[in-house]
Amino acid sequence: MQRAEPDSPSATVRTVDVALDPASASNRSELESVIRHAAGAPATSTVVLRKRSIDARSRQVLVRIRADVYVDGMPSTVPPIMAELPPADPRRRVIVIGSGPAGMFAALELLEHGITPVVLERGKDVRARRRDLRAIQQFGVVHPHSNYCFGEGGAGTYSDGKLYTRSHKRGNIEKVLRLLVEHGASPDILVDAHPHIGSNKLWLVVQAMRQRVLELGGEVHFDTWVSDFILSTHGARRIRGVVANDREWLADAVIVATGHSARDIYHLCVRQGVHIEAKPFALGVRIEHPQALIDSVQYHRPQRDEHLPAASYSLVCQSNGRGVFSFCMCPGGIIVPAATAAGEIVVNGMSMSRRDSRFANSGTVVAIEEQDWQTYASEGPLAAMAYQADVERRAFDAVADGTQRAPAQRLTDFVARRQSATLPDSSYIPGLAPVDLWSILPPAVSARLADAVTQWASQMRGYLTADAVMVATESRTSAPVRIPRDRTTLEHVGVAGLYPCGEGAGYAGGIVSAALDGQNVARAIVASNYIRKP
Ligand SMILES: Cc1cc2nc3c(=O)[nH]c(=O)nc-3n(C[C@H](O)[C@H](O)[C@H](O)COP(=O)(O)OP(=O)(O)OC[C@H]3O[C@@H](n4cnc5c(N)ncnc54)[C@H](O)[C@@H]3O)c2cc1C
Repeated sequence: MQRAEPDSPSATVRTVDVALDPASASNRSELESVIRHAAGAPATSTVVLRKRSIDARSRQVLVRIRADVYVDGMPSTVPPIMAELPPADPRRRVIVIGSGPAGMFAALELLEHGITPVVLERGKDVRARRRDLRAIQQFGVVHPHSNYCFGEGGAGTYSDGKLYTRSHKRGNIEKVLRLLVEHGASPDILVDAHPHIGSNKLWLVVQAMRQRVLELGGEVHFDTWVSDFILSTHGARRIRGVVANDREWLADAVIVATGHSARDIYHLCVRQGVHIEAKPFALGVRIEHPQALIDSVQYHRPQRDEHLPAASYSLVCQSNGRGVFSFCMCPGGIIVPAATAAGEIVVNGMSMSRRDSRFANSGTVVAIEEQDWQTYASEGPLAAMAYQADVERRAFDAVADGTQRAPAQRLTDFVARRQSATLPDSSYIPGLAPVDLWSILPPAVSARLADAVTQWASQMRGYLTADAVMVATESRTSAPVRIPRDRTTLEHVGVAGLYPCGEGAGYAGGIVSAALDGQNVARAIVASNYIRKP
């Protein structure tokens, strides 16, 4: 396909698709010459990669690449999104509770419109937060404001940093990715079909974003825990600000982007009569295999080609009328303790940019619906959360040594309903304890997990093996509560000026969708009457 570049009409561009073996695809000069040849373009032409994906459907694994070849002329340069913005107007202020992806992308979007975001974050900055992660990993001590879910950058900071999403209709994904690149992420994320950043790099991106917010006149306050909303007491309900650290913070509007683990925010809503609802979520376990096994199955050969990344899988099925699915797979990653309070066991997964650990772990969860949490109906809108919290507590009590050791079972033993006598090697640093997970998980969850694992064994050779281990509990895949908002104004249904946002409000699931929601909410505030016009 040949076209003229709209921004620089003198350029002639040919778009081509090529498929190469992994070694050739990782050699830039070889790759460019294959692309130029396919485009019938001279050696002087400029090659720009647009998309890259791995196709492992047949025995010969291929890297598929789409590229633009500039036969003459050069690609137009795209100006940075956040460059040369004037400082924000200090009289136009929006409080953003939470510095996760929803909160930070909302803050950046507000700054693009000259509005001052005041970010209030209960946790510590990325560097200081690391000490608390070490305390959980090594000593089982969970800091209630600083852990894998709370702190600068939110739950996404010390994660895998996977950036793929199905939320294509929710906003401009390219803008989210470009902002990440502007703040230090590799430009590869603009090209890869399954982009990821990795924990070792993500914290630097988060730090650079905070720096940008400060440079443009925004505020970021760490160790600042919001404990109350300030609501007007007469007439229509309207939020005026919040109380944090015994101080009143006032603003034109308030964004609540507190994530799915801020249970105190849900309690605060109930206490202050801010309408919330129980909502379906998902619950299960993390399943960990040796990475070499997953590589050999997915790449159809005993050993992974050195030019290929650690392989992943994505599995989904129906079991007794419910969806069961793998989720947030971390190839070459580790399982981490993601509890936010003492007395509970919650696991999640993360990886470094190289994805080079010996293990492949994936959340494996069952859809939880209203009929499941009926026993907790007396909790009203917090019923689904009470169901979730009970399972997490049972996991802690089952090990009963007061640490973050997690209950675990070999996959084959779980299916056979027998406790494991021994457990395989695992990446989970606090350690595993052999427990029959049927005694912890609700029976309807266990039965569906066992059925799903058996179904998947017939789709993926080697999946159901004694070398794989199930670790409980994967319970924070999504929020068990929704903070409902108007579809058009994105404002809370009962409190003017209050904007529920991101995963904790029930409007996102993952880094990119949370970021998109943050941008959408910020734009909704700009369009509202709460902000005086410049
Ligand atoms: C270990 C781990 C790995 C993950 N890996 C991935 C991945 O690879 N890819 C992906 O897409 N998703 C991943 N996720 C999920 C992803 O991190 C979340 O979907 C995303 O961070 C949600 O963004 P958010 O901004 O809505 O909320 P959060 O990121 O949860 O941020 C909420 C913030 O609000 C703060 N807060 C809460 N209560 C208060 C209060 N009262 N006062 C002040 N501040 C408060 C919290 O400290 C937190 O910083 C992972 C999650 C974890 C835990």
